[in-house]
Amino acid sequence: MNLQERFTSLAASMIETRRDFHAHPEIAFEETRTAGIVADRLEKAGYTPRRGVGGTGVVAILEGGRPGPTVLARADMDALPVPDEKDVAYRSTVAGKNHACGHDGHTTILLTIAEVLASEASSLPGRIVFVFQPAEEITEGAKAMLADGALEGIEVDEVVGLHLSSDQPAGVVAVRSGPAMAAPDAFDLVIRGSGGHAAMPQRVVDPVVIAAQVITAVQSIVARNVDPVDQAVISITRIEGGTAYNIIPEEVRIAGTIRSFDPATRGVLASRVEAVASGVAASLGGSAELTVHEGPPAVVNDAWTTERVREVARRVVGDEAVDEAPMIMGGDDMALWMNQAQGCYFFFGTRSSDATGFPHHHPRFDVDDAALPKAADVLANVIVDLLERPVMRT
Ligand SMILES: [Zn+2]
Ligand SMILES: [Zn+2]
Repeated sequence: MNLQERFTSLAASMIETRRDFHAHPEIAFEETRTAGIVADRLEKAGYTPRRGVGGTGVVAILEGGRPGPTVLARADMDALPVPDEKDVAYRSTVAGKNHACGHDGHTTILLTIAEVLASEASSLPGRIVFVFQPAEEITEGAKAMLADGALEGIEVDEVVGLHLSSDQPAGVVAVRSGPAMAAPDAFDLVIRGSGGHAAMPQRVVDPVVIAAQVITAVQSIVARNVDPVDQAVISITRIEGGTAYNIIPEEVRIAGTIRSFDPATRGVLASRVEAVASGVAASLGGSAELTVHEGPPAVVNDAWTTERVREVARRVVGDEAVDEAPMIMGGDDMALWMNQAQGCYFFFGTRSSDATGFPHHHPRFDVDDAALPKAADVLANVIVDLLERPVMRT
């Protein structure tokens, strides 16, 4: 089967599909139109997709013509609550919502792969599980689909997927073995004191002053409690408290994010935030209460699968267009699918001009969608390669 020809011939239709999704963005768990189009097209291609998995997720299975491994391929479908400030014909038609991360492209790529491979089913071994996931941006979609039995009765051997990237030139595959994306945990910290008149500080416990010292003290955790060759970051991103010029409030609320790769480090960071905040607050007569909202684990690429991806990518896009991806402190709930089996999540470049060079989540983020057929070619070949691998690993 010549996949390259198939995807090249579908370029116009892929661009049209992507721009349609782009013009109609749907944010976390609202992806009903997108999921409807995906499931309808899958049905037309001969699948019996499961709809509404974990809210708006779609799962479709392709059974090959002979025994072999099971490969799961996942695309996320959600947009972001960000306005679209691009001046293009396919700009968002929904105020305040925008496909500013490229998930419209992911959905288009995986849907097209499912359609193309459907006609090749009899010649393929094993089976492919196509997963179209909601709500990646709030890292809730994978969890919801798994809790809803997305993989009930399915034993997965390999998990693959790609994320389009404006950090890479169009057509470049960037991949790394081992830890690739961080485990993103969020936290809320409530600093409690005892309020009163701003002119009589001797009669209050000032949570504003405590919060200031907690914020400063927390900066020492990554610097002093994490192995310098490991990676971690703690950022305080919100602070709220007080109502007037002359009132010292009862409490100050702080929020932020803790990101890490190593599970042990992840535990240390959360417990140190708790200890430092409580200790500083206690020393000043107040108290601190930490709530951690645990995100997905880190994305860790399997060495063997990553080597397969590299080899396939070299074949499809050429040696010079395969790069080593940097570790990224951003998280992705692809990690929950990758918890099911070994796998690899890689990046595919979509930057070809200033217009497609904005960072992800920027109101003017855009992808060079002429690169989509190539991205589909790479991912489809990765799937086929993993299906046809000569040795089943245990
Ligand atoms: Zn994103
Ligand atoms: Zn994304």
